[in-house]
Amino acid sequence: MSDTTKTRDQYLMPTYARQPVMFSRGDGCWLFDDEGNRWLDGVAGIAVCNLGHCHPAVTAAIAHQAATLVHTSNLYRVERQEALAEKLCLAAGMEKVFFSNSGAEANEAAIKLARLHGHRKDIEVPHIVVMENAFHGRTMATLTATGNRKAQAGFEPLVQGFIRVPFNDLDAVRKVAASNRQITAILVEPIQGEGGIHVPATDYLQGLRQICDQHDWLLMLDEIQTGNGRTGTYFAFQQMNVLPDVVTTAKGLGNGFPIGACLTQGKAAALFGPGSHGSTYGGNPLGCAAGCAVVDTLTGGVIAEVSARGEYLREALRKQFSDLAMVKEVRGRGLMTGIQFDRDCPELVAMCRDRGLLINVTAGSVVRLVPPLVISESEIDELVTRLNDAVRAFVREQEAA
Ligand SMILES: *Cc1c(COP(=O)(O)O)cnc(C)c1O
Repeated sequence: MSDTTKTRDQYLMPTYARQPVMFSRGDGCWLFDDEGNRWLDGVAGIAVCNLGHCHPAVTAAIAHQAATLVHTSNLYRVERQEALAEKLCLAAGMEKVFFSNSGAEANEAAIKLARLHGHRKDIEVPHIVVMENAFHGRTMATLTATGNRKAQAGFEPLVQGFIRVPFNDLDAVRKVAASNRQITAILVEPIQGEGGIHVPATDYLQGLRQICDQHDWLLMLDEIQTGNGRTGTYFAFQQMNVLPDVVTTAKGLGNGFPIGACLTQGKAAALFGPGSHGSTYGGNPLGCAAGCAVVDTLTGGVIAEVSARGEYLREALRKQFSDLAMVKEVRGRGLMTGIQFDRDCPELVAMCRDRGLLINVTAGSVVRLVPPLVISESEIDELVTRLNDAVRAFVREQEAA
């Protein structure tokens, strides 16, 4: 990295522990720097670039819209916003959409819906059930909903109105239902992402749906990471035999253009009215043009391949690591995969990077692979080869220590 980069870095708030690498170009599953190096991207901008870097359909849509109309505000109708809302509702079986600019903001909309739902029933302090190890964002309310004490430390007072229970534990939810009359909603990831790629039991979401129906709570799914084809269907809930009242998404929705969405159906679709919520940029022509190209491309054939590619990847990983006691489990859905190590393994990030592969380690001991959904079988083979090389070196180092 050049010295100019280092001197400019001092003007940024040091909120990120950045890796010493900077990319100048992306194409499909590959990132390039100015010095002729290239990396196979197993991170995809943290599950964002689902169609790969600079997908031609998204690039063309952004370029065309940028030359036509960028922003008008929500004082007026927005043609691309109406188009994207329709596409999303048809893809998800939902009824209405509120557009935001990020995942956390999409969840803020959901949290406000839960509170409105409670106040309509004269519940004075509406509570939302959230999960241990959940991740919902970094705004004050979503940070409170996030189940990570380290992320919350120093930012107290947190927001009131959240109750935490263990993930994948229906009895724990039934227990708080019996003792707390102020609950109005559950907010949960169908598969926990930042928390370590935790896939719940197959009947978990159905169980939550039942509890919500029984108590007139809203079932609110955070599909910011699992949505937009990541797990093999447009949303993960579509494989789990439930329809949520509220679902939020972001990340893959713009393939890198910042846009989020909160979708509702049924009684949740009737809660917001004029003035209830808003965002200056939310759903602007440029973002929604990107979103339309993304949804069209995903539903036009990309998603159909995701489950098979994901199984192919996980099978290859299981085979490759079957002799390693340090590798406890390979799990996931679609192209959202976690490799559980028996110890913290943050070193693997740099070891992979040195071998031309970008990965992420989350929850300390889980290698998270969320490559572009357009990854080919031969690119998956390449990913496994490079990862295996790094893992073997890591194991040797650990055994020598
Ligand atoms: C990334 C993520 C968020 C936060 O999205 P931002 O766009 O960073 O605000 C919320 N929930 C889940 C499950 C996520 O993966």
